[in-house]
Amino acid sequence: MKCDICRNEIAKSFLGKIKGTYIKINKDKKIVCDECQSRYKNLKEKFS
Ligand SMILES: [Zn+2]
Repeated sequence: MKCDICRNEIAKSFLGKIKGTYIKINKDKKIVCDECQSRYKNLKEKFS
């Protein structure tokens, strides 16, 4: 699973759960890594 913003592989926790977050941009579901998520928070309003 790759981050839709930075294209880096998203790390997985030991339970196999990805350390990423799904966000919605124009009806598209995107998966972003934690790093991009914190960066993206400021941009979120812009896209939604
Ligand atoms: Zn990322």
